[in-house]
Amino acid sequence: MSEPSRYISGNVSQLKPSGIRKFFDLAANMEGVISLGVGEPDFITSWNVREACIQSLEQGYTAYTANAGMLELRKEICSYLNSRFALNYDASSEVMVTVGASQALDLSLRAILNPGEEVLLIEPCFVSYEPLIRLCGGIPVSVSAREENSFKPTAADIEKKITQKTKALILCSPNNPTGAQLTKKELQEVSLLAEKHDLLVIADEIYAELSYEEAYTSFSSLPGMRERTILVSGFSKGFAMTGWRLGYACAPAPLLAAMLKIHQYSMMCAPTMAQHAALEALTNGLADVDSMKRSYRQRRNLFVEGLREIGFSCHLPGGAFYAFPSIKNTGLSSDEYAESLLLEEKVAVVPGSVFGSCGEGFVRCSYASSVEQLQEALKRMERHLKKLQASSNI
Ligand code: PMP
Repeated sequence: MSEPSRYISGNVSQLKPSGIRKFFDLAANMEGVISLGVGEPDFITSWNVREACIQSLEQGYTAYTANAGMLELRKEICSYLNSRFALNYDASSEVMVTVGASQALDLSLRAILNPGEEVLLIEPCFVSYEPLIRLCGGIPVSVSAREENSFKPTAADIEKKITQKTKALILCSPNNPTGAQLTKKELQEVSLLAEKHDLLVIADEIYAELSYEEAYTSFSSLPGMRERTILVSGFSKGFAMTGWRLGYACAPAPLLAAMLKIHQYSMMCAPTMAQHAALEALTNGLADVDSMKRSYRQRRNLFVEGLREIGFSCHLPGGAFYAFPSIKNTGLSSDEYAESLLLEEKVAVVPGSVFGSCGEGFVRCSYASSVEQLQEALKRMERHLKKLQASSNI
């Protein structure tokens, strides 16, 4: 065989390409597209944060930092987590700064999984979980979060999927793509299950700052959970810093040390200039976070109400910046609907099926777009739905 692909590992060859890609490629070749497809804030990072990065460069901070990140930043992360979410982590042994929450997820899974061990995923979920588990030789096991339960998993749904091989559960609240946020009571039910079956919980709390309905409960603040939780979070969403690639993980010292072992060989440290920016974001940026959150909340209300008026059923997302309406009334699959909406009305949304099979029948719309764009998207979606209904008499 002379194909260069013969060098590619079996683990990588088996990965499926992301279902989101196809729509970006289609949309990239079209003009006048309104994109509700991307999962990132429409705000530019606050000026004081950008300026802190510029100043760090001017002052010549261009070298590596400690593997776990600048101690000053880790200390600030600890006091932020303490004041916002009542968490207590030790900056020197229980926190590390990572290249986005993405790397924190990768390190968490690589640090804990032996081949053949199972990890529970609550689907629909973020597209990276399954491939990251597979790259570690682990087995993803999906638990369906159903629409009639506002896309929240019940403890009974989760327990049914637990086997002798189950090692961990990934919990993401508020969720991408549904926006579902678990209440404190619902999280407590999951915590009892984690205790009963000795599960480690990877709590992906990247959307913690974008929670609209009630006070946010961080999973590891629940009784007994700190010792079995890896908290994953970062600056991308709440602080509008996706391109800076900065996140962090907090975990009991032995787990954190295992993650750090991988990180020191594979990454060394997160970018120094981004760490300086993050320090400023935590010290002086929380008022901006709150004002961005108010703006998303307004747009959530406007967009979800608009979808309902057109005739789509849509649960009210408790957090993040995604609406996840049902498109079952169109008679199309979510993939067909997204393609038709893009080609006919130039609105890009993501088919729910890319987030797990139980996402079929829904699409993810990011409302992190201007009010004008959202209103125009709603107009186009209404026109499209009417056309579909006229052509198929549904
Ligand atoms: N977790 C979830 C649920 C996400 O939606 C995302 C980004 N789309 C990430 C993690 C990764 O975020 P980061 O930019 O910090 O790597």
